[in-house]
Amino acid sequence: MVQPLGNLFIVAAPSGAGKSSLINALLESAPEQGLLNPPELSVSHTTRAPREGEVNGVHYNFVTVEEFKLMIQQDAFYEYAEVFGNYYGTSKAAISDKLDLGIDVFLDIDWQGARQIKAVSPDVISIFILPPSIAILEERLVGRGKDSTEVIAKRMSQAKSEMSHAGEFDYILINDNFDETLKRFSCIVVDKSLTAEKQRTRNAALLETLY
Ligand code: GDP
Ligand code: ADP
Ligand code: 5GP
Repeated sequence: MVQPLGNLFIVAAPSGAGKSSLINALLESAPEQGLLNPPELSVSHTTRAPREGEVNGVHYNFVTVEEFKLMIQQDAFYEYAEVFGNYYGTSKAAISDKLDLGIDVFLDIDWQGARQIKAVSPDVISIFILPPSIAILEERLVGRGKDSTEVIAKRMSQAKSEMSHAGEFDYILINDNFDETLKRFSCIVVDKSLTAEKQRTRNAALLETLY
């Protein structure tokens, strides 16, 4: 089977490690970071309530548990999982079309979803983001100012068990200095876009004239 031109990336991390900030910074600075095409973030479906400032269809597609279960029955999900007591899932729609168009797609999903996708799509590239310490992880969650004390405590209590899955991923980034981590993150993405197979697809006409 011919590989699509775009790559599918999974980015996972314990809550607060900096996953959303790193993905958003990469999307915003794609040309400066040397990315060949502007990548896109897949928008998941979730049954969690929107946080202040979160927009339906932009941050998540916010749905009810009934709607989510109907989508499961309709086999609409590429993967889904229950995380922190809510359902989260990546719908099949749009991902493969984007990859065929040469657009890299990022999935911000948990380790359970990563495992499901790796099993059906071994070409997916998985990256796990770790904080420099547990104390800094908690500082960041508190500093983000978006979650209640109760939610933060729940996420901190699950952080170690989530991080225990980091070794199942292709790459591990330790998000200490943000700009350094962003550079390393973009290196992985650029590297994966320059393989001989991708270049043969992307530059078929040029290569024809050269060899
Ligand atoms: P965050 O921890 O601040 O990113 O909080 P979120 O509420 O945005 O995400 C909660 C958890 O759900 C994280 O572990 C995400 O990686 C995970 N998640 C989000 N979307 C998906 C998805 O589509 N599929 C799966 N499997 N996990 C997801
Ligand atoms: P996640 O999506 O993994 O839950 P966020 O991207 O929301 O995490 O980051 C959590 C908080 O930590 C945010 O307030 C963010 O600005 C901050 N943060 C992220 N990376 C760093 C870093 N390298 N140094 C300091 N603060 C950071
Ligand atoms: P939050 O509620 O903070 O937005 O997300 C909590 C966790 O759910 C994060 O670790 C996030 O990566 C994960 N998550 C978000 N969307 C999905 C998804 O579609 N599928 C899976 N499996 N996990 C998701």
